[in-house]
Amino acid sequence: MAIKQRSKSLRSRENDLSDGGYQLTVLNNADLIDDQFVRFSDKITNYGHSVLKPTAVEIFQINIGKLCNQSCGHCHVDAGPDQTEANMSRETLETCLEIIERHDIRTVDITGGAPELNPNFRWFVQECARQGRKVMNRCNLTIIVANKKYNDLPEFFAENSVQVISSLPYFSKRRTDSQRGDGVFEDSIRALKMLNKVGYGKEGSGLVLDLVYNPTGTFLPSSQCQLEAEFKRQLDRKFGITFNSLYAITNLPISRFLEYLIESEQYSDYMETLVDAFNPATIDGLMCRNTLSVSWDGYIYDCDFNQMLDLKVASKSTHISNFDIDALASRDIVVNQHCYGCTAGAGSSCGGELV
Ligand code: SF4
Ligand code: SF4
Repeated sequence: MAIKQRSKSLRSRENDLSDGGYQLTVLNNADLIDDQFVRFSDKITNYGHSVLKPTAVEIFQINIGKLCNQSCGHCHVDAGPDQTEANMSRETLETCLEIIERHDIRTVDITGGAPELNPNFRWFVQECARQGRKVMNRCNLTIIVANKKYNDLPEFFAENSVQVISSLPYFSKRRTDSQRGDGVFEDSIRALKMLNKVGYGKEGSGLVLDLVYNPTGTFLPSSQCQLEAEFKRQLDRKFGITFNSLYAITNLPISRFLEYLIESEQYSDYMETLVDAFNPATIDGLMCRNTLSVSWDGYIYDCDFNQMLDLKVASKSTHISNFDIDALASRDIVVNQHCYGCTAGAGSSCGGELV
């Protein structure tokens, strides 16, 4: 059973899995834990990490809303066209800007949903760029061609030196459309050509276009280096498209991908794959160690995945309204069974492989 695009979010369908607490109940199923799967916290303790500590706060990853023009089957954010309420307000964005400026956080990683659908998106990007920050935007590509008013996004990104990071599950229509929706592949190709046209992904332009690959089933990504070479070869040969780097990301067993695992009766097999592939060498590079993740309503998490499970930081500073960098820098990172997704094989993070 392949991962299929969903017509609605878990939240709209009133699915139990829209609740982070319920997802954690599934992940901590007493019939499987201990007998079959060692607890993640015990696993890392065996490798000398009784607690995971941050190394620094280098990246501020902000989810500015769950609204999206797509409704992908594997979406760990549970984003979609029906997520209209989960949008970061101007006031919350202003607080984020103050924090970034006050603490000299060098990299702002903007994500969603489709972040461009937030009415304050362009203003926020310009303010971050004005502060001299490196701005990364996780763009789903199709938003660029979804409506005339987004057609100039490539020029806007270029003017603000935004690093564009875009999902493309595969270089074929069949595998991309089944996961992300009919027509997504063709629209993505059109958008990539528009980005190339303004210099993105072109040598010497300084405009960085990275792609994100995630498996279209219950397997781990193969070698990032080999995938990147294959994507480059195929996209260039078939469409004349170029890009900088490819990040290979593992699907974590949460949200809509967890729904798919349960529906297809592959949950325990997939967990077994992740647990068996545990690689202690990934621990040093885990993204939770140098990143803070902020939700659309201003709460702070160790990472995007903990955000979706509503596992707030273990700190007195759980919201941007009481942001305390010292308290956050000394926190213990909250881990759970889904963390096996980050430590399997070559590891996985928002920047791809870890080792
Ligand atoms: S484009 Fe991204 S955010 Fe939107 S539904 Fe797909 S995976 Fe989720
Ligand atoms: S899910 Fe990954 S990034 Fe998040 S806390 Fe666990 S190991 Fe860290």
